[in-house]
Amino acid sequence: MTHVDGNALAGAFATTLGIDITATIGRCRGCGNSFDLARTHAFITAMGAVMRCSDCQAVLAVIVQNPREALVNLSGLAYITVPSL
Ligand SMILES: [Zn+2]
Repeated sequence: MTHVDGNALAGAFATTLGIDITATIGRCRGCGNSFDLARTHAFITAMGAVMRCSDCQAVLAVIVQNPREALVNLSGLAYITVPSL
């Protein structure tokens, strides 16, 4: 399956979480590297989307949407840094 860069998930995160986390820096739980989430790998299907670490390919985040709700799993991220307003 081919991927696009993490920027492709900007709208999905903004819609489900109210924040575009692809504009933040995150740390991968798998390899410990920190990077702009915009440069991760995004795999998008009709069922949902997966964000993977571009360094170690660990799953960082998953978004699954159904007509009633969205399920968002961010367990592959140790943290994200959100700039102060
Ligand atoms: Zn990683």
